[in-house]
Amino acid sequence: MKNINVLISGASVAGPALAYWLHRHGFTPTIVERAPALRDGGYAVDFRGEAHLSILRRMGVLADLERARTGMGAMSYVNSAGKPQATMPADLFAGDIEILRGDLARVLYDATKEHTEYIFGDSITSLTEDADGVTVTFERTPPRRFDLVIGADGLHSNTRRLTFGPEERFVKHLGLYCAIFTTGNHLGLDHTGHAYRTAGKLVAMYSAHHNTQAKAVFYFASPPLDLDRRDVPQQQAVLAEQFTGNGWQSDRLLRDMRHAPDFYFDTVAQVRMDTWARGRVALVGDAASCPSSLSGMGSGLALVGAYVLAGELAAARGDHRVAFARYEQEMRAYAEGCQKMGDGVAKLMVPGSRFLAAFLNRYYKIMPYLPGKNMAANMARKAAENITLRDYSDLASR
Ligand SMILES: Cc1cc2nc3c(=O)[nH]c(=O)nc-3n(C[C@H](O)[C@H](O)[C@H](O)COP(=O)(O)OP(=O)(O)OC[C@H]3O[C@@H](n4cnc5c(N)ncnc54)[C@H](O)[C@@H]3O)c2cc1C
Repeated sequence: MKNINVLISGASVAGPALAYWLHRHGFTPTIVERAPALRDGGYAVDFRGEAHLSILRRMGVLADLERARTGMGAMSYVNSAGKPQATMPADLFAGDIEILRGDLARVLYDATKEHTEYIFGDSITSLTEDADGVTVTFERTPPRRFDLVIGADGLHSNTRRLTFGPEERFVKHLGLYCAIFTTGNHLGLDHTGHAYRTAGKLVAMYSAHHNTQAKAVFYFASPPLDLDRRDVPQQQAVLAEQFTGNGWQSDRLLRDMRHAPDFYFDTVAQVRMDTWARGRVALVGDAASCPSSLSGMGSGLALVGAYVLAGELAAARGDHRVAFARYEQEMRAYAEGCQKMGDGVAKLMVPGSRFLAAFLNRYYKIMPYLPGKNMAANMARKAAENITLRDYSDLASR
């Protein structure tokens, strides 16, 4: 086996899942994560369909994820008085297993920590490749050599920037911004969520951690804004400007926002790249092919990508040229299908015009009585299952 020592940037979903499978196939993974420690909580993500579940089952983490699942039921669209107008089935948002991203990262970390070196609070500053490997410099850790480097560092991937160029070339803004933070469950929501939609805006609350808290979610339509990603007061000012006087719980949630422990604000975007590998560096998960936070597909795509990338490296006995090409062949159509879902959901969840918003609010009301009532959930399931996974397990036991 060649290229045993693999550095992964990012310890969320794709990174630890990749480390898990690399170790199973005989590689030695190291993970560098910018955050000083595992980031708990966060928003809900989900897995759906047999492709996702079979990988989680083979990793031995399915039972842990089921224990930590959110247990969310149906969600409702409400009017300005908070009265439910239409109910969306749980399957549409929660898939087969819905879990907070931080809880998922914790389960994956626990499944890998014994055989993976984790370096928290650090980031790669340069990658210099030669015939035998890559010299990596970090913000804090002294320079080290690795055989391969994999970027699993999300939508704003540092590895992608260092290897392929500035993110403007690859990150496509879908015309929306998203904010999310933890707040009190002051509506007393019981494993459910309420969403209030107007033209170009959606504000929602869903209960979390078995109703002990709630997540406040905001989406609004906007062209790309010139914002500093680390300037939280600036982002909060933009959100306040967009939603003050917007109705329903908007003003209350904007007040809560000022004390939120975990304010998140970002563009709703996709990553589109012609290739996911250059030399000894490759990308996986959102870094390679983010389908957008609205697609409901990102965590599953990250998991499947990690499984396939590690498997192809093992199948090629560590030959990265062969493995990276095979990884792209196996994954490309699947990732594109997930991105298509992301495009569609963005347009339907936060329609730009008042007419379309009013039409959809009415349509959702009668949807449960229409023959195509499960269409959106079925489409999501189809996209999630649209891959035939190779069984790489014989390589693991060799
Ligand atoms: C609000 C919101 C709602 C979402 N809802 C859903 C959903 O319902 N269903 C679903 O499937 N998906 C959902 N997603 C998407 C899902 O969270 C992502 O697709 C998934 O987490 C991708 O995993 P990843 O490991 O590729 O990247 P990420 O989860 O983005 O992780 C990247 C990791 O890299 C780290 N990192 C960043 N920069 C550096 C650096 N310089 N050096 C080292 N480490 C670095 C980060 O700290 C992070 O730990 C949602 C996303 C958002 C934002």
